[in-house]
Amino acid sequence: MISAVPELVSEADVVVIGGGPAGSTVATLMAQQGLNVQLFERDHFPRFHVGESLIPETYWVLKRLNMLPKLKGSRFVKKRSVQFVSFNGKASAPFYFEDNNPHECSQTWQVVRSEFDHIMLNNAREHGVEAHEGARVKDVIFEGDRATGVRVMLEDGTQRLVNSKVVVDASGQSGLLMNRLKLRTWDPLLNKGAIWTYWENCYQDSGRDEGATVILQTADRKGWFWYIPLHGNRASVGIVAPFDYLFKGRAGHEQTYQEEVEKCVGVAERLAGANRVAGYFATRDFSYRCNKVAGPGWVLVGDAFGFLDPLYSSGLLLALKSGEMAADSIGEAFRKNDFSEEQLGNWGPLLNKGIDRIRRLVCEFYEGFNFGNFVRNYPGLKGRITDLLIGDLFDDKVDEVWAPMESLYPEGRSVPVAWDSGTAPEIAAQKRNELHIPEGATP
Ligand SMILES: Cc1cc2nc3c(=O)[nH]c(=O)nc-3n(C[C@H](O)[C@H](O)[C@H](O)COP(=O)(O)OP(=O)(O)OC[C@H]3O[C@@H](n4cnc5c(N)ncnc54)[C@H](O)[C@@H]3O)c2cc1C
Repeated sequence: MISAVPELVSEADVVVIGGGPAGSTVATLMAQQGLNVQLFERDHFPRFHVGESLIPETYWVLKRLNMLPKLKGSRFVKKRSVQFVSFNGKASAPFYFEDNNPHECSQTWQVVRSEFDHIMLNNAREHGVEAHEGARVKDVIFEGDRATGVRVMLEDGTQRLVNSKVVVDASGQSGLLMNRLKLRTWDPLLNKGAIWTYWENCYQDSGRDEGATVILQTADRKGWFWYIPLHGNRASVGIVAPFDYLFKGRAGHEQTYQEEVEKCVGVAERLAGANRVAGYFATRDFSYRCNKVAGPGWVLVGDAFGFLDPLYSSGLLLALKSGEMAADSIGEAFRKNDFSEEQLGNWGPLLNKGIDRIRRLVCEFYEGFNFGNFVRNYPGLKGRITDLLIGDLFDDKVDEVWAPMESLYPEGRSVPVAWDSGTAPEIAAQKRNELHIPEGATP
């Protein structure tokens, strides 16, 4: 069918769909290699996004992006540790990142995402990326099985066809290509939901602990709260628990949140005297991955490839790392003039291995793994556990922890099944990740 609206046609080496952290990362690193990169973001920045806590291993990608001076000069709260509080209120000793590695990379940040993502996108522009906001990619164009460009819809209704050698999908959980090519495998174990809001004037730790993420297990051990201090005397506080527990047969987001806060003493104490500055956000956050990271002429990065339960704040690290790995393989693809699935996806096995490691630690936590107890039994392995918590996921050394962990299993427990071991089709058919953003102020 011939469109009534005239279609503009342009060319790029690479098109990136989405201007979140994964999209900005891959775009910047490709522009640094001299490639002509066009990025299309459907929203206008700054825009709200959940996911405020960085982990230290993001440092190395942020360094390549030339983001470190911007972060050091920002108001973002400095994060130096993470601490776990178990269901009975017992706190583990904090895992201080600098004790494990006395390098400046051990200090990271708690970021307000509307600000962080905007800085990342503008940083991409400074490196030569042509980034368009208010530009929604409607479709990826294929010739046979090879991606050759995208069709973009601008806000005035104009359509643009952009031809490119490579299309990178960084569209987050919208997963444009994941849906079109039916690439998604739902994780059979991690079926959670989350409810959260933002507070002012709540309890703030001081000194070295000022910017710590605190993970507090709920009293019935069904889920956990995140407590993330943000600049401006604010905090992001949310609960993650099994989807059915949080959303089925309960009165509504506000009441569920309040009931859970009351039952979790550590959170209730921290919020005493605080005032809420936003409504209640909610999401289904079922974990998933695609069965490949690339195909001929196309590549997936960040949440457009996979999403993992946010327990250890690994989402931004995986967005940045996948963006980095993809940019390196795409740069090589241009040098070799090889845009095959094998070339564009040669980093997939390494990324999956890293995600497997942090996923295993997530599953162990839901099965009862206790950080304090592990360190008491295996003090020599505190460093290895810290390596996992900082996101050092791509080095075999961290695999030292699994056998000792299994030695503490109660009778009858077995190792968690793999992410791709299957979900019944009737359950998979009902799954859908959705985000509820309340009316009013968002950070
Ligand atoms: C409850 C919860 C808590 C979390 N907490 C943390 C945390 O503490 N720390 C952490 O590291 N991670 C956390 N995460 C995960 C983190 O938010 C994500 O992993 C991260 O945002 C992924 O970045 P991304 O760039 O892949 O996707 P996004 O940040 O979602 O960016 C995708 C972009 O693509 C754009 N887009 C989508 N479709 C189109 C289209 N068709 N055309 C153009 N643009 C499009 C969107 O507007 C968006 O800007 C959390 C997630 C959840 C659900």
